[in-house]
Amino acid sequence: MKEYSFTRKVRVYDQADIIVAGGGPAGCAAAIAATRTGKKVILLEHSGQLGGMGTLGNVSIFMGVGNVTGIYREIIAETLPDQLPKSHTESIWPQYNPFLVRHYLNTKLEKEGVKVLYHASFIGVVKEEDTVTAVIVNTREGLVAVEAKGVIDCTGDGRVAIDAGADYTSGREEDGLTQPMTLMFMMTNTGKKVEPYLPEDCYYYKDKAELPQGRHLFWEQGTDGTLLVNMTRVKGNGAKIDDINYAEKESLRQVFSVAHYLQRNGFETYALTHIPGQVGVRETNQIVGHYTLTEADLLAGRRFDDVVAQTNYEIDVHSPDGKPGTDERTLSGYDIPYRSLLPKGLRNVIVAGRSISATHVAMSSMRVQATCYAMGQSAGVAASQAIDKGCDMADIDIHRLHEVLNAQGVVFLK
Ligand SMILES: Cc1cc2nc3c(=O)[nH]c(=O)nc-3n(C[C@H](O)[C@H](O)[C@H](O)COP(=O)(O)OP(=O)(O)OC[C@H]3O[C@@H](n4cnc5c(N)ncnc54)[C@H](O)[C@@H]3O)c2cc1C
Repeated sequence: MKEYSFTRKVRVYDQADIIVAGGGPAGCAAAIAATRTGKKVILLEHSGQLGGMGTLGNVSIFMGVGNVTGIYREIIAETLPDQLPKSHTESIWPQYNPFLVRHYLNTKLEKEGVKVLYHASFIGVVKEEDTVTAVIVNTREGLVAVEAKGVIDCTGDGRVAIDAGADYTSGREEDGLTQPMTLMFMMTNTGKKVEPYLPEDCYYYKDKAELPQGRHLFWEQGTDGTLLVNMTRVKGNGAKIDDINYAEKESLRQVFSVAHYLQRNGFETYALTHIPGQVGVRETNQIVGHYTLTEADLLAGRRFDDVVAQTNYEIDVHSPDGKPGTDERTLSGYDIPYRSLLPKGLRNVIVAGRSISATHVAMSSMRVQATCYAMGQSAGVAASQAIDKGCDMADIDIHRLHEVLNAQGVVFLK
């Protein structure tokens, strides 16, 4: 393989206590939580919006996790107050408006005092031995450096940890295949018949069996006539150039085809009204952490002393071969340990969100948004404590972490 080495002098744009890379559920919560502990936080977001897959990919429904707590609970209280459960142990599955949540997160992070850099992509770390001292960021002004004492990697792909040298795995143990990608879209009930439209190169699905997932999967919870559709499916790993290139085109083709099918099968008055700007990516890289969460932990309902998030969301593996079929198994509830957020070999990096250390099956459950918010919140507080103590992220006092999380409104089930 031909290679170049690339050296460049890069100006330091700013300094922070903590850099959060990625503004999805995990990143937003991490940034808020760390800021609330008095730290200067800079959040780098590759796109022009916060919310990650929830807004960017139009994944605008929260799956139930059995513990509506912390920042996630606040978000529900502030955006969907009617859905707020009395007890934090009650599961909710609310559909939400991704455009409003996008606006809400902009305002929320601004009010909290987080410095968000939009259109700012993490591209590499500057390291001194096992410590990251700065990150290189591609911005609208070109490459800049941002210095920090700690980094929370919420890119969903483990991008920071991997660049800093962490080991990672990808997909199923036997063949490396990840869950497929899906472009979720919206249709709206116009109240009058809509002419079904099928662009060139799209598919005419005769019946349910011919659909990409071989099933119907949509939600219509609100009163504004919005139908949220999760019915496309494209094989591939969203962290691979060729796979994502194919998926962007193929998933859009499927969107038009599924919409056309629905307009002929029960949704005759629904127009195709929103297609997000990028395909949804479920699974890419998992860092190798101090502990790897496994299917056995989930099935056993395992509890950990260093719990940082809890969920009872099911095992939910969309078939990695891209064909119809989903491995769905209910769970009683389990803990995610702090050690799964710590990439081996790095002193001041925490990973939160869907790319923590977990097996393919375990990640299929812990990946949903509420759990990512919970992991992010814990990571934000943990990073802050490590900075205060002058220790490695791995050496914080878990009891103290739980105390501060508790003061931030987080309740863990015993
Ligand atoms: C099709 C689909 C359906 C799903 N269905 C549901 C559902 O019904 N309910 C549910 O709760 N969950 C669902 N999920 C899961 C959930 O949406 C994600 O797992 C969750 O959003 C992950 O959160 P995260 O913060 O870890 O990462 P992401 O949401 O992936 O966010 C990562 C963020 O980091 C940014 N980023 C990436 N690289 C960089 C970089 N180099 N520099 C700067 N920023 C970067 C991205 O732009 C993004 O904003 C679904 C996911 C998909 C794809």
